[in-house]
Amino acid sequence: MAERIVIVGAGQAGGRAAEALRAAGNVGEIVLFGEERHRPYERPRLSKSVLAGEEPAATASMHPQEWYAAHGITLRTQLRVEAIAPKSRAVITADGERLEYSKLLLCTGSRVRPLPGAPDVAGVHYLRTVEESERLAGGLQPGRRLVVIGGGFIGLEVASSALKRGLEVTVVERQRALLDRVLPGQIAARVAALHSAQGVKLRLGAPVERIQANGSGNGGVKSVELADGTQLAADIVVIGVGIIPNTELAETAGAASNDGIVVDEHCRTTLEDIYAAGDCTNHYNPILGRRVRLESWQNAQNQAIAAAHNMAGKPRSYAEVPWFWSDQLGTNIQMVGVAEPGMDIVWRGERLAFGLLDGRLRLALGFNMGGEIRFARRLIEARAQVSARRLADAAVGLRDLLTEATCSASTP
Ligand code: NAP
Repeated sequence: MAERIVIVGAGQAGGRAAEALRAAGNVGEIVLFGEERHRPYERPRLSKSVLAGEEPAATASMHPQEWYAAHGITLRTQLRVEAIAPKSRAVITADGERLEYSKLLLCTGSRVRPLPGAPDVAGVHYLRTVEESERLAGGLQPGRRLVVIGGGFIGLEVASSALKRGLEVTVVERQRALLDRVLPGQIAARVAALHSAQGVKLRLGAPVERIQANGSGNGGVKSVELADGTQLAADIVVIGVGIIPNTELAETAGAASNDGIVVDEHCRTTLEDIYAAGDCTNHYNPILGRRVRLESWQNAQNQAIAAAHNMAGKPRSYAEVPWFWSDQLGTNIQMVGVAEPGMDIVWRGERLAFGLLDGRLRLALGFNMGGEIRFARRLIEARAQVSARRLADAAVGLRDLLTEATCSASTP
């Protein structure tokens, strides 16, 4: 068989990997399978500008249709890969076709976590795909009452876009803080203050009991009932309670999986010539010193590119400081690193927070502080000791701290 690379999953990671594989040189045929009807697209704007009514969802597409054929990439949409036969090096599609591969890349991504018991009635939404974003955007009419369940990035970006469109917005989060999975409470409190100040009502530490529909459900959603009995009247409900990585295809084929498909720094799974990248993976990050599963634009993009290089025979380790951004209520929030238990939190003014562990910078979050965050990212990467006092002192430039840290690290 001539060389053929098969990519399963035509999301951001799959699309970016196909592009990087083709750019990497002579890798033979590339076949990209996607379950959705769309060609690869990026999700960030689906919860921001598309919901705010500022641009259509179509702008999320990564490449025009003709780009795929022009680059020798066979894009097969609306076709699910049901199984992998690793011994015979083939994938089997939902319509029974068997296609052999020389190398296989799994970019199977993730799916929304369902809220148990949520009724399937008009006005109740999840948000992951282009269709879901368009449908929700159509329902965000001024004056309507929106209840968002889940105070993570999805919930807060939806809240922000809806507020901009004149809805009355309440966010319900079962943890005592917003963004509890990704931020220390002290920093999350500042995000909460931003939302409260602009009129988003927050119900923290408030598990949802049930979502109630009008009548038998034909009249759409009516309210959200909290565990303490509070009824929140709602015309629209958005559920953003997390995602589940799509690991089943890899697991059934025999690949190791542990909170994501286990890959090494070269994006290799435990099965020969099978690689994986994006939300669905769990990788060792040498900068963090531990394994991690990342649900982010950066990881979908750059792990996929790293995988493509490795598959094309140009070895490259994937080792990056995690970076996230979010636009909420006119504020650009950027975060580098990850939160660790027991961190010391240090503020530099009102808009920049740091998390230190054993004297090393591990996390930074800035509100409209993109320039500073770039230096913070390099400080985390350098794994250098930094003084909390100097970090807090706005008169000391982060660039200077970086220079000092890297000089002292290289001094014998
Ligand atoms: P998420 O970050 O996991 O947050 C979901 C939140 O909902 C968690 O705090 C969760 O608490 C809470 N929750 C769960 N069940 C609940 C319930 N019954 N009632 C109230 N709250 C409940 O996930 P997400 O916000 O849905 O986002 C989905 C994915 O998209 C994530 O990977 C996110 O990072 C990504 N995303 C990223 C961006 C960005 O980077 N700008 C933007 C949008 C989305 P528990 O922890 O207790 O379950």
